[in-house]
Amino acid sequence: MQPKEPSLSLKIFPDAVLRALCDPVETFNVQLREWTDEMFEIMRKSDGIGLAAPQAGISKQLFVCGIENDSLCLINPTIIQAEGSPVDMIEGCLSLPDIHVKVNRNDRIVVAGYDNRGRKMQYGLTGLWARVVQHEMDHLKGVLICDYGENVNLDEQNSGLDAADSANETKQSL
Ligand SMILES: [Zn+2]
Repeated sequence: MQPKEPSLSLKIFPDAVLRALCDPVETFNVQLREWTDEMFEIMRKSDGIGLAAPQAGISKQLFVCGIENDSLCLINPTIIQAEGSPVDMIEGCLSLPDIHVKVNRNDRIVVAGYDNRGRKMQYGLTGLWARVVQHEMDHLKGVLICDYGENVNLDEQNSGLDAADSANETKQSL
């Protein structure tokens, strides 16, 4: 029996891996599938809806996300189309606990890449899915939500009982 490799762990800002430019994945091997399995596990354990490879300490172009019972894993992703009206939403990030920032993103994208077996994939995404994917793709370039603006105090936001504000807030971290 072979000893199991130490499992991946969630990286928290200011860990340098979060700022590095990720390299493309070149081989679609067993190791890659182990990484994506472990990334899904970290994401779900942390109650998140998305996790990019650098957040698990891997400086490679891949991410996983999952909303309700749907999940998506994309390797070497590129956004080939971004449209729809840009929308503001308050986002959180598993690597930046307690930080929430209002980020403006397109609400419709087409993203292409590969699944973890090397098959070419393409998805048209809207709403929260489009948002999560754009957030995760930022991670692959070392971009974090704190680069978009000031930390939003959620207590202050909610004390106004402004329904519109709370509707524009992601309940889970990405
Ligand atoms: Zn994040």
